[in-house]
Amino acid sequence: MAVEWNGPRAKKELEWLRSQHRPGGLLAVDERGKRLRDGSPCCLCGEPIDYDLRFPNTDSLTVQHVKSRDRFPELTWVRSNYGPAHFGCNASQGSREELPVGEFENVYW
Ligand SMILES: [Zn+2]
Repeated sequence: MAVEWNGPRAKKELEWLRSQHRPGGLLAVDERGKRLRDGSPCCLCGEPIDYDLRFPNTDSLTVQHVKSRDRFPELTWVRSNYGPAHFGCNASQGSREELPVGEFENVYW
């Protein structure tokens, strides 16, 4: 049973991820520790993310759980399990449990 990923807490985690991976963010570095000028790329497609875009723009940032919440519910709120991904990539990955975090509460589909 997946742990729910929505509400104020999920939004807060999204903003944390944005602050870390956007250009100049602490985690916006490559494997050798070199600063990534455009911020961290999408962990699903590898393309740059525009960190200023907001949901429901399909290119906006969402929190991707590297280990799925379905199989690892205990990692739902573990920040080391978060990766940056485009909303569109996250949604098309086929995991209906990966709810993107948006401006709206209770987004289900
Ligand atoms: Zn992507």
